[in-house]
Amino acid sequence: MRAIAVAVPVPGIGALTYAVPDEFPDPPVGARVLVPLGPRTVTGVRLGSDTCLTPAAGADGPGDLKALVDVLDREPFLPPDVVALAVWVADYYACGVGEAIATAMPPRAWVESERHAAITEAGEARLLTERGARREALEQLSGGRIVSVGSLARRAKGIQGVLAGLEADGLVTLTRPLKGNADASRTIRVAMLTAQGTEAVDEEVARLGARQQQALDLLRGAPDGLSIAALADEDIPSESISRLARLGLVTIERRRVERMPFDTASDRITRMPVIALTEEQQAAVGALVERASRRTYHAALLHGVTGSGKTEIYLRLAREVQQSGRGVLLMVPEIALTPAAAAIFRAAFGQRVAIQHSGLSDGERYDQWHRIRRGDVDVVVGTRSAVFTPLARLGLIVVDEEHDGSYKQEESPRYHGRDVAVVRARSAGALIVLGSATPSLESYHNAQNGRYELIALKRRVLDRPMADVTIVDMRAEYASEGPDVILSAPLRDALTSRLDRQEQAIVLLNRRGFATVVFCRQCGETFECPNCSVSLTVHKAAGRARCHYCNYSMAVPRACAKCLGPYLEQLGFGTERVEAEIRALFPGARVGRVDRDTIRRRGAIAGLLARFAARELDVLVGTQMIAKGHDFPRVTLVGVISADVGLGLADFRAAERTFQLLTQVAGRSGRGEIAGQAVVQTLYPNHYSIRHARQQDYTAFYEDELKFRRAMRYPPAVALINVVVKSKTRQAAMQDAEAIAVALRAPGLGTWTVLGPAPAPLGRLKGEHRAQLFVKGTHRTSMRKALLTVLEGMPEVRRRTIVDVDPMSVL
Ligand code: ADP
Ligand code: ZN
Repeated sequence: MRAIAVAVPVPGIGALTYAVPDEFPDPPVGARVLVPLGPRTVTGVRLGSDTCLTPAAGADGPGDLKALVDVLDREPFLPPDVVALAVWVADYYACGVGEAIATAMPPRAWVESERHAAITEAGEARLLTERGARREALEQLSGGRIVSVGSLARRAKGIQGVLAGLEADGLVTLTRPLKGNADASRTIRVAMLTAQGTEAVDEEVARLGARQQQALDLLRGAPDGLSIAALADEDIPSESISRLARLGLVTIERRRVERMPFDTASDRITRMPVIALTEEQQAAVGALVERASRRTYHAALLHGVTGSGKTEIYLRLAREVQQSGRGVLLMVPEIALTPAAAAIFRAAFGQRVAIQHSGLSDGERYDQWHRIRRGDVDVVVGTRSAVFTPLARLGLIVVDEEHDGSYKQEESPRYHGRDVAVVRARSAGALIVLGSATPSLESYHNAQNGRYELIALKRRVLDRPMADVTIVDMRAEYASEGPDVILSAPLRDALTSRLDRQEQAIVLLNRRGFATVVFCRQCGETFECPNCSVSLTVHKAAGRARCHYCNYSMAVPRACAKCLGPYLEQLGFGTERVEAEIRALFPGARVGRVDRDTIRRRGAIAGLLARFAARELDVLVGTQMIAKGHDFPRVTLVGVISADVGLGLADFRAAERTFQLLTQVAGRSGRGEIAGQAVVQTLYPNHYSIRHARQQDYTAFYEDELKFRRAMRYPPAVALINVVVKSKTRQAAMQDAEAIAVALRAPGLGTWTVLGPAPAPLGRLKGEHRAQLFVKGTHRTSMRKALLTVLEGMPEVRRRTIVDVDPMSVL
């Protein structure tokens, strides 16, 4: 009997082993199979035979494997290299292999029900003349019962072969396609002239109705045919076409059309064509094209200051690789925020580009995925999940803004798109380019120790100067202007002069909402989320106080919940308040706001950015979303309100994030012909992240930050695994976490250190208490193995435990 390893899309389950009954061909790696799992039948994906084989749940032993119910694909559905990548992800990030495989699957790939069998009239008639297994099967179905093949198989071994024979004889029908497996492409009906229609002579045509004659006329001018919808636009009803079809003059065929996910709004963002590369760009393209031509794995970190023209380098490199007959994957942090990248690549590669990201509708994702899988595409632009793209013959992966936290998925599988991309490039023998003006500490460290080649662009294109950064000490500002000031005097002045000169400004505050705390002046009570240990944020336009973690909301309170007094005060402020402040100070200014509150609707952000690019807005207020990658040449001022929002957080990446955010947002200023300025308001003007951002000195920041990481033993100095245990009470969470910590500290187990447990900084989240511990060490694999072994011994705790390998955020 043949046994295969199968991944099923159930959280926390490893590879399962199933037997392949004799009547089935061997499913290739990557093919979908239907398998019994407990009382259900589910779709799984066949894994490689090197994947460790464990008996299927409920089986008594390797000799008593459960048999699969059906083989859905003769050819691999997922390419085998993508299957191998998903297996790697499951292992490295300690999640179920099915969860990782599911991330790689397109929509509608999981079949929800199995094949059903029904008896035909001929079957009923022949029932009594059949013998043996055939007779038994027909009896099960007799009387019109429709029975799942799986349940028949549970009663009689080898039933699939029997049913196939009965189906061939016309005695039973097996339902296909299976639900969910249906071809979900969208089709339209297209009318075309037949030979008879083309040759129809005048007198023949004259006998037709006016609409039919008109239709023939139109179709003569359209050799590829016209859709029924297009003809309807010309007032030709579909009945006229049907009549022409009956006369044999026209055929109607169904044609598959792609659902186009491209934001037309971003097409309005036009770019000046680049005539000549700068010397630095030229050198970078030259070096990278040479690396790509080696056709072996190579990793490069492209560290180019903001405005140094990295996109142009990606584009030229991509063209070279495409022309050498290999595929290109461009990864961007969030497509909604960088629609320009997709638009630029689409302009350059036309129909050969596909887009993959989770913001697409199911239908669009389905179409894009299958286009790539069919080989209709050479270039894929996508977000982190695009790392699993079924693109063949990969020659180049570009990870733009590689430092960006959005590459890390904050739910299982907790993978980092950039790091998985490196693994994929290695196994594909491809070149990978990580680009950023502010590389992550990890990547720069890898460049320092020689694992990545470092390619630097130190200057902006056309010798444009970097923005001039002014730091405003808000302590002095509060002393002179009062404690309620939001826009400091220097920022107000700078805004005034930009508006006068009709230049544009960006104002950033990395906190949304109107007020961040509601507080009772009489008794000191604050309004907190009932589920999470955070205070509620007031959203004035919506009239709600909302939790930014679980989305709980209530009407903005008018009286204190505790003392019932009416003396409520709103403290703290977010982007909504800043927008209101700017509108009040500059009534003539056209102001737009970009944050999670204003872009709920799909496409809203692309629309806003396009309006800003078209200079229909003067000031754009927003959260970190507006700091990313955009290229608006008329922006000459960037204001940062409260640069230190992130510095108070108990997260070892706080300084890095602050530095990146400030450098990136300052990099949005002065990208055109007029020099730019940035005004940064802060309470900690001497913090090293702010000082170095002011100088836009990445290497100085890197050195200071690496010293801190080494001293405190944080990545990249060590490998880190974050373990969070959730429970109903704080005490229970702490106890369970303590048990894990104790087990990991057992003498002789390994050289890592275990910190904690301690209540997580967000001690309560979505109604659950959370305790946290860290495992730090130099050998990630043995740390993870030890942790998983410990957790295996406490399965109930395991279900409530988050294991985060290489965490980006430890709140
Ligand atoms: P980065 O991603 O490095 O911040 P971009 O790729 O967005 O920079 O380029 C910044 C701007 O410079 C864009 O408007 C781009 O069209 C322009 N640009 C790029 N290369 C050149 C060049 N060689 N000459 C003139 N303009 C260029
Ligand atoms: Zn909450």
